[in-house]
Amino acid sequence: MRQVYLDYSATTPVKEEVVKDMLPYYTNFYGNPSSLYGVGIEAKEGLDKARERVAELINADVREIFFTSCGTEADNWVLEGVADALKNKGKHIITSKIEHHAILHTCEYLEKHGFEVTYLDVDGEGFVHPETLDKAIREDTVLVSIMMVNNEIGTIQPIKELAAVAKTHGVLFHTDAVQGLGNVAIDVKDLGVDFLSMSAHKIYGPKGVGALYLRKGMRISTFMHGGAQENKKRAGTENVAGIVGFGKAAQLAEEHLEEHISHSCWLRDYFWQKIDENIQGVQLNGPKENRHPGNLNVSFDYIEGEAILLMLDNSGIAVSTGSACSSKSLAPSHVLDAIGVSITKMNGTIRFTVGDFTTKEDIDYVTDVLIKIVERLRALSPVNGQKGW
Ligand SMILES: *Cc1c(COP(=O)(O)O)cnc(C)c1O
Repeated sequence: MRQVYLDYSATTPVKEEVVKDMLPYYTNFYGNPSSLYGVGIEAKEGLDKARERVAELINADVREIFFTSCGTEADNWVLEGVADALKNKGKHIITSKIEHHAILHTCEYLEKHGFEVTYLDVDGEGFVHPETLDKAIREDTVLVSIMMVNNEIGTIQPIKELAAVAKTHGVLFHTDAVQGLGNVAIDVKDLGVDFLSMSAHKIYGPKGVGALYLRKGMRISTFMHGGAQENKKRAGTENVAGIVGFGKAAQLAEEHLEEHISHSCWLRDYFWQKIDENIQGVQLNGPKENRHPGNLNVSFDYIEGEAILLMLDNSGIAVSTGSACSSKSLAPSHVLDAIGVSITKMNGTIRFTVGDFTTKEDIDYVTDVLIKIVERLRALSPVNGQKGW
């Protein structure tokens, strides 16, 4: 049976070149990068090279890149670290209603510890408007955190404009760029952000590696206490092979950015056109423009997303409902809720994300299977008859 992976926003396969670069760091250059002899120094050189490559991808200085264990850690660190460092200045944080749980749950934690959080509304396509942010900033606001690209509906936020608003008020700005990295061109200097979170496994690198960009001179408390790694800001022996893999993935992402974007956009638009032409009662959620190049978020009337997902899985096709994180809890998506999608439509929603290994033949196969699945499920659906499909 054909296997088609359409969940690139949940994670990506690791590219062969990346694995090839990583392997020697398990077997030959296995030293501790803090050690002063040969194999340790080789490991340290691997880290340095990776730091250069990640820095280059976002136009940062190498001294501004701090490796973490994942994107989630980078998000936790920046929120808790800035909140702690600036608690005497103020205890108010601003974020949006459509952030990843790595941000939202950390904000909830901070609320339990005396901080106040404002969750900004978004419009029907998921955009945060600069004026909305401007109105929400207070005397005691210390940090604004708005994601670059939404993981469910693909909205690409106007980060440069939003960061400028924060700057006007002298407030620090963070962006969770985990879905943006490798999918949009990122230049931290041009964007004017103070902090930016990244993850390797969303850009064809290994799982369990992330990084935080900390603009020079930024004050932030340490999150992991221990040794002097990462310029004394993030303790713990580095995941050397993983970081090397992140570096290689970053280099490939930079070299192939245009190609990746045009390939993904073409497939995404082709796929949507086929769905829209062949299946009635569908709705595309999220923006038409300024959208993640590989993201389609589609609501199918009168059927359950879970049922579609399971039947697609039976045909070797991997997709996710609303978001990977909420599919297990069966909770309705906070993102679809924020853009005004009704509960019934939400229940029939599937997220398809294409990537570098997706082909036109994959999309043709998936469309054929999808048409049959939707037909079958609707034939079984109790509300279907009244509408006369
Ligand atoms: C995947 C993701 C994260 C979490 O990154 P991990 O490396 O999996 O911890 C954070 N934010 C967004 C927007 C994501 O898509």
